[in-house]
Amino acid sequence: MLSKKGTGGRKLMGRFEYGADLLQALEEMVEKEGIKVGTISLIGAVQEASVGYFNQATKEYKTIDFPENMEILFCTGNISLKDGKPFVHVHIVFGDREGKAWGGHLLPGTKVFAAEFVIEEIEGIHLEREYNAVTSLSLWQK
Ligand code: ZN
Repeated sequence: MLSKKGTGGRKLMGRFEYGADLLQALEEMVEKEGIKVGTISLIGAVQEASVGYFNQATKEYKTIDFPENMEILFCTGNISLKDGKPFVHVHIVFGDREGKAWGGHLLPGTKVFAAEFVIEEIEGIHLEREYNAVTSLSLWQK
């Protein structure tokens, strides 16, 4: 187990523009603000979406594309360091026109219709991702 205690830092609230790539917009915001560790929460809607599903047997991501308008019912993520730079890791749940839910690991290609974010910085923690041989994922190591 890995557990670290930090303190509250800055809290940012805002929205991303129509047509923006959601993952890229989050990455640019984190980079611009210099946030190294923190949490992300977001709601809104997308014009189209792309998410990943990690196949634990093959250790590969499968890309799932949704070429349709959907609500962002829930979107949560974290910010930590990878290769010394801030890295954004986000999971997202969409609702379709029938209220059915879909989701996965947020990938580039998810186009914002409207998106309201809350980003909370956590200070006093150094949290860095490194390759983990058991899972083939980049996990928090130190
Ligand atoms: Zn993920």
